[in-house]
Amino acid sequence: MYGYNYWDEKQREELAFKRKTILRGVGEKVYEYFFEKIEERGLCSREGQRDMACEIVDAMIEDKHFLCEAGVGIGKTYAYLVPLMLYWKKCTEPIIIATSTIALQNQLLGDIERMKSDLKARADVILIKGQAHYLCKERLHDYSEECDEETKIILNTIDNSGNQEDADFDISEKLWDKINVNNYNPRLCDKCVHKTYCTYYGLRKEVRRTKGFVVCNQDLLISDLMKKSWEYGDTRSILTDDYKYVVIDEVHNIEGKVRNALTGSLGYYDIKKSINKLVKACRRNDSIHRSSKEYISIIDSMFDAFMQDITRQDQAASKDNCDIEKYSVPQKQMQKAHQLKKLYSDIYTTAEATAEFEKNNEHIYDILDSLEEQRGLLEAFINSESNVFWITCPKKKKEGIVLYYCPSDIANDVKKLFFSDKRIRTIMTSATITAGNSGDSKEDYAYFLKTTGLSDKSCILSEPKESPFDYDKQAIVYYNDYLANPSENRELFIEQGVEELIKILEITKGKAMVLFTAKSDMKKVYNKLVGRVPYKIIIQDERVPQKEVISQFKSDINSVLLGAGSYWEGVSVEGVALSNLVIFKLPFPVPDPIYEKKMERCKNGLMEVLVPEMVLKLKQGIGRLIRKEGDYGIVSILDPRIGDGSNAQYKGVVWDAIPIKNKTNDLNEVKAFYKNITQEIQL
Ligand code: SF4
Repeated sequence: MYGYNYWDEKQREELAFKRKTILRGVGEKVYEYFFEKIEERGLCSREGQRDMACEIVDAMIEDKHFLCEAGVGIGKTYAYLVPLMLYWKKCTEPIIIATSTIALQNQLLGDIERMKSDLKARADVILIKGQAHYLCKERLHDYSEECDEETKIILNTIDNSGNQEDADFDISEKLWDKINVNNYNPRLCDKCVHKTYCTYYGLRKEVRRTKGFVVCNQDLLISDLMKKSWEYGDTRSILTDDYKYVVIDEVHNIEGKVRNALTGSLGYYDIKKSINKLVKACRRNDSIHRSSKEYISIIDSMFDAFMQDITRQDQAASKDNCDIEKYSVPQKQMQKAHQLKKLYSDIYTTAEATAEFEKNNEHIYDILDSLEEQRGLLEAFINSESNVFWITCPKKKKEGIVLYYCPSDIANDVKKLFFSDKRIRTIMTSATITAGNSGDSKEDYAYFLKTTGLSDKSCILSEPKESPFDYDKQAIVYYNDYLANPSENRELFIEQGVEELIKILEITKGKAMVLFTAKSDMKKVYNKLVGRVPYKIIIQDERVPQKEVISQFKSDINSVLLGAGSYWEGVSVEGVALSNLVIFKLPFPVPDPIYEKKMERCKNGLMEVLVPEMVLKLKQGIGRLIRKEGDYGIVSILDPRIGDGSNAQYKGVVWDAIPIKNKTNDLNEVKAFYKNITQEIQL
């Protein structure tokens, strides 16, 4: 035993030494690339980019994680691709790059190809998008049998396409949802007759055995890490087991992504449906019938109580001028979990026993599988201390209630998944990670470290890299003092905000995007604005894909786009079509059980949770204005809580975090700025 450990340790030391030697060589080449040869390669030399690349090599040598806020335009992709590609040339180890948007995944593919030819590396590159983007021939076949003739004709034309974006057909999202891959199950797919020609099946095989680069979304990476971790319990991982370096680009989303992956949900409708199905399948069993009746009766009374509480929460929220998306769950109702669990166990065991004696028992086993989610929910209710719960009810009807739950300490899960396996090192970057600008990296990254469980001891915290754009020359921030405080008088703030907005839009003749925190505010502003300005007003519409909305906005240069939610970070419009960015209200998160739980752990929930969240979102929103060197324009923040007359505790933090320092509360100055800059550009 002693001998085994000794040699094992010795081998590890030798490997580490070999890796370090290779990495020192990589470091020299990275230096040469960015400091000596960058211009002859047709690229501009950017300080932030070359510093970031060298620091990444340092982190690799020190065997640490790496975290860097990289301002828009520094070229962060090349900053991590150059060291990784040079390392790959020496070690041929797979490299995983995970992002959260398809736009970045597509861009990365081009950048990797360029880097391969530049550095003469013959690495394989695999792009695997989310499963829903791929065609499932099995589902296509099944749906073709049940759909109408007109749809059949459409489906016949798409039989050979594997990927929604690359396909040469144009079908509705609704139809695509019926024929794309959903709930990919490798065990079932191994038996599928279409597997040989199935693009997604092929990709899943490739990403398990590749030695090259894999570009994927963060959800896939999280699923892979969950499957690899014994704690989340599945042995069949998705990606190859041999990777050491993982890049997480757009890492600011990682906490939310892990939360989504660990969130369970169950709707009233689904609970009733599966229990009723089971009763029907075991109709001769009186015991199941009796227990199910009692079970459903408790569920009914529970959801009736939820509905009453939703009405109460809505009334309270309207007094506080806010909308609720995630309702809290009344504690009293969770106490019914023990009783429900007992009934559930009776139903489950009796049905299982019945299935053993039935001939066509597969149907019963399928229903029992679908009941597992209910077990998960009941367990979570019983362990309510370590979970957080919420309810959604967009239609305000009991039938539409959905219950959600996830672990209350997500930071702990992020840490376990990403930072506990010593063999894996993560290179994390994004344009918005810091929630402050104190000059002390540890302090500025503090919120990210806290929400991900990342320790500054195991990670190089790179000093944030400023954007090379001349923000103060290209942009101005307009703020005001005289609008009503939105948290005190929301209706008056909206009235006054619309009048202010009309004046601001006049300066740029539209060409604006207005960002909202609450969709209800957005709708009110839309209704008040239509007919009062001579520009087309486009409002975000859940039924229309964001891509289409943005394309409408770009094609009508003077149009005004009103957006909320994903529009704060998912929009990239270069050029004059977006010359005016309006932040209607500071994007404080809408209070919900998740934030309440986070705040419970702090001394000052406002400054330690709500303000950092708001600042990060605000930075993302402002980042929509200047997307490339020649962009210019105005950022208007209508919320008076950061105006000169405000005493808000967070005012200084907000101004420090905004990268544009050129600011005024005088609309005439804004007009003059815009006039000058447009003239300068035209010259
Ligand atoms: S292999 Fe799986 S994903 Fe592919 S067509 Fe068959 S069932 Fe669908």
